[in-house]
Amino acid sequence: MSADGPSNFIRDIILDDLQSNKFGGRVQTRFPPEPNGYLHIGHAKSICLNFGLAAEFGGKTNLRFDDTNPEKEETEYVDSIMETVKWLGFDWEDRLFYASDYFGQLYEWAVQLIRKEKAYVCDLTADQVRQYRGTLTEPGRESPYRHRSVEENTDLFARMRTGEFPDGSRTLRAKIDMASPNLNLRDPVMYRIVHAEHHRTGAQWCIYPMYDFAHGQSDSVERITHSICTLEFEDHRPLYDWYLEQLGIYHPQQIEFDRLNLTYTLLSKRKLLTLVEQGRVSGWDDPRMPTLAGIKRRGYTPEAIRNFCNAIGVSKTNGTIELALLEHHVREDLNKRAPRSMAVLRPLRVVIDNYPERQVEEMEAVNNPEDAAAGTRQVPFSRVLYIEQDDFREDPPKQYYRLSPGREVRLRYAYFVTCTGVVKDEKTGEVREIHCTYDPATRGGNAPDGRKVKSTIHWVSAAHAVDAEVRLYDNLFLKENPNETAEGEDFTANLNPQSLEVLPQAKLEPSLAGAPVGSRHQFERMGYFCVDPDSAAGRLVFNRTAGLRDTWARIEKREKGKA
Ligand code: ATP
Ligand code: MG
Repeated sequence: MSADGPSNFIRDIILDDLQSNKFGGRVQTRFPPEPNGYLHIGHAKSICLNFGLAAEFGGKTNLRFDDTNPEKEETEYVDSIMETVKWLGFDWEDRLFYASDYFGQLYEWAVQLIRKEKAYVCDLTADQVRQYRGTLTEPGRESPYRHRSVEENTDLFARMRTGEFPDGSRTLRAKIDMASPNLNLRDPVMYRIVHAEHHRTGAQWCIYPMYDFAHGQSDSVERITHSICTLEFEDHRPLYDWYLEQLGIYHPQQIEFDRLNLTYTLLSKRKLLTLVEQGRVSGWDDPRMPTLAGIKRRGYTPEAIRNFCNAIGVSKTNGTIELALLEHHVREDLNKRAPRSMAVLRPLRVVIDNYPERQVEEMEAVNNPEDAAAGTRQVPFSRVLYIEQDDFREDPPKQYYRLSPGREVRLRYAYFVTCTGVVKDEKTGEVREIHCTYDPATRGGNAPDGRKVKSTIHWVSAAHAVDAEVRLYDNLFLKENPNETAEGEDFTANLNPQSLEVLPQAKLEPSLAGAPVGSRHQFERMGYFCVDPDSAAGRLVFNRTAGLRDTWARIEKREKGKA
């Protein structure tokens, strides 16, 4: 047995169970999304945990759609969830299940509990059920319908199923303990009446099982060994166990872990849906969204996400992880694999006055200094170039070593150039273009006389440039905790109005022409970028995946400094 996964308490439980042969040496997990939205980075934690642990111990993982809620669920979500799990690198093989596959079996089990006098049909409304439930400090009251006979319950439940009663008029409830300190055990609802089309079973059912009645039994049918879920279900575990015990069926072990929370990020499908519906983002896959579809479009790699999930581990208490840590893993992965190129995002025209008019030279550039096998490419150099507006200052402040009048700098992979003049717009005073001279003896970027320059800047030959739109992103929310709002405001008040900046006139080196959608690149000095699906023939659109500066490394250094 391999034992090389990240150590954590869930893994320890599995190791113990294997040792004691609790499940006959099997490890079988499942990932159980509700198809009511797109998966987000929090789900990735659960996916990596479930698939990762099973794989480590030679076990299997099922994908199961928890589709017990007909009104909020859609096939679009089912499709995107499957695509996303695959994209993350996991495979459920032939083990794709739906809780709705078990509706028939669950119904029979409910009838069994009625016969055992462990369930009853209750005519209280949802509001009344809530009132009768009591509070944490007060016991609940028994429903006046709690002592119906088995015959009456059997009859009513059958008629609930055949559609005789309107929505909300009756429920089937478990008969447990209205005085239990655990509110989940105060006669929880097992079935509710909902006359709604289900995305898979159509109009076949008008009663639907509650999550708690469906989940453990679905785990049981699939012979799951370790049913791993988030901490908010800890208080539901006694109920999970109660149903399985009362039914006397195969009993998996539920284990809870902490939900992922990230700074500057919301991970609630309901709130993410609000952003989509209100048009605050362009869709579920907007690159600013924490959905895996958005993250993928932004250019994050599945490897980076898996590394991040392994690094954060699991625990028994909820906390919040720095968004910078996720970005750190993205950079670390992209640094290894993203080919380098030169791109000017905010172009400033440069004319090299002493460079021959029609001459073009091919300069050799390194594709990836982290990967010797990536080789080199040729980048054309000519008389008119673009550089970043930021790389020139007419009045350079102290410590500014880039181009300014009279100053010599290195053009990456090319020549030393010296700024000799500035052309400004007569009306606005804005710098329109600058003039330079080059030193032909510095080809390749070194001076034979050993003289040094203090800075190296990137460039693109104007005549050869590929036009592109570049989209820069900042955090979607301004607050570390976007749920923290003033009275009367909701989380949308914390949206960052500057989370998207579009640069419509970027100039790229010609090797980027035809870069395929989804391909990831490092633009030297500017960050990591990924080709967006909005790209069309002749017009590339790039998303900035991440800047080059690693704020996580800075945070770590600061923390170490404190210690
Ligand atoms: P949301 O509140 O976003 O709707 P959910 O828990 O209702 O989330 P499900 O589709 O039911 O979403 O979740 C599927 C699985 O993913 C569950 O096992 C759930 O515990 C897990 N999961 C969801 N969100 C997170 C998170 N932030 N961190 C870790 N696991 C999560
Ligand atoms: Mg849910």
